[in-house]
Amino acid sequence: MRVALASFEFEGNTLSSQINRRDTFSRKVLVEGDGVLPAIEGRDLAVTGALEALRKEGLEIVPILVAHGGSGGVVEGAFYRETLDRIVAGILKQPVDGVFLALHGAMICEGETDPEGALIAALRAALGPGIPIAASLDLHAHVTPRMADNADILVGYETYPHVDAHGTGRRAAELLAGALHGRIRPVTRLRRIDALLPVVGGSTNGDAPMAQVRELARRIEADGRALAASYFPVQPWLDIDDLGIAGVAVTDADPAAATAVAEEIVLAMWDRRRAFELACLSPDEAVREALDRPARVLISDAPDCVGGGAPGDAPAVLAALLRAGPDAESAVLVVDPAAAAEAFDLGIGKTARMRIGSSLDPRFHSPVETEVVVESLHDGHFTYTGGISAGTPGQMGPTAVLRAGRLRIVVPTYATYEYGDEQYRAAGIDIRDCKIAVLKNPMNFRTLLDADTSWVMVGGAGPTAPDLASIAWQVKKRPFWPCDDQQQPVFMENHRDA
Ligand SMILES: [Zn+2]
Repeated sequence: MRVALASFEFEGNTLSSQINRRDTFSRKVLVEGDGVLPAIEGRDLAVTGALEALRKEGLEIVPILVAHGGSGGVVEGAFYRETLDRIVAGILKQPVDGVFLALHGAMICEGETDPEGALIAALRAALGPGIPIAASLDLHAHVTPRMADNADILVGYETYPHVDAHGTGRRAAELLAGALHGRIRPVTRLRRIDALLPVVGGSTNGDAPMAQVRELARRIEADGRALAASYFPVQPWLDIDDLGIAGVAVTDADPAAATAVAEEIVLAMWDRRRAFELACLSPDEAVREALDRPARVLISDAPDCVGGGAPGDAPAVLAALLRAGPDAESAVLVVDPAAAAEAFDLGIGKTARMRIGSSLDPRFHSPVETEVVVESLHDGHFTYTGGISAGTPGQMGPTAVLRAGRLRIVVPTYATYEYGDEQYRAAGIDIRDCKIAVLKNPMNFRTLLDADTSWVMVGGAGPTAPDLASIAWQVKKRPFWPCDDQQQPVFMENHRDA
């Protein structure tokens, strides 16, 4: 039996001003046909986990297309439609018995707010009802009724910070193999509540609220009430009306049980909604607090999270660090293609007054102007050491390290998803030697914590503003939590036989 294997992964953000085209994907992973297996084998990707599981089950793999674009704003409509057409046409070229898709689930395209739903529906329409379709999803997926109606199997990541993409691909593929070998008849059901949850409070570690939801899902699976139970606190920076937190369950030919489990999961998130809130500081408060603490401090610049779709160009914490003038080694990263190019033109050792930051999205801050020395220049290549991209190359493009006193400013040409400190290492900086280091993410920096390292979080405006109630929602209709203090959950639609 033959299984078509494809992935189309991108996390959108409608509050970002970026339009992402082919080059966003080709800088990461964009391969087709014979190019697929060499690009994914041995990696920690969801599609790799699926590949290994399907092979183990004796299924023949038909590699179609793998596209990873990371995160950003809105994907260009032409590139999206071309990629969708290539996936569908590639699968239809030969008879297949099943389809596996690795998706993020929160892509947004020009003219399409549910691109993954449109892809799965297009495949269902082309293949008919008898061919099982399975998809792995990011925990922040925007799962829609169209996705649940047209897929047989949907399974989300367990963890945030995300460390189980590979395992999620494997779990979804094992269920697909089970369906192909006639062991199970999977049905998938979705329940959604019209609410959003702050990403900063969404860790699945320790006793955090999402850790409790994770435990509940695993208990449901262990008790045999579902083959897979997934929770989707959703990528919240999508200003579209059809957005809410979701529970999804896959059962063996029992739609009513799947609906009940999906509802139990989404209600478990709703019941804990107040526990997701987290206090944030202003950039100046964060720097002062960091300097007051005796040991090393990581500052999370949450409103400019590259992994959530922001451009990574906000210089707010840089400005606060320059004002405070820390008397210990510190490091900050600000994406700025023009400033990087200027530093390459100047050359190592040269001093100049430079404008840094807010070059990609000037809506939230002004550039910072300061005198710097060009300390070093780098090609910006690195390899991810963990998370959903472990083993995959990253490209910051030409990257300059500028020095202002004891502060080093890493200035890459391109924004890259942050897992740990790969970007700083690629710029020759070991942040363990820094009193203060700034990370452009609200969650993954936690992978860098140890007994000598604490953290503070910066709030405020930006494409990934941590305070969701502070966002001027244009499309998504009120009332919804947390903008409105609702006492009862509002289910978004009666999905099929829910
Ligand atoms: Zn995610």
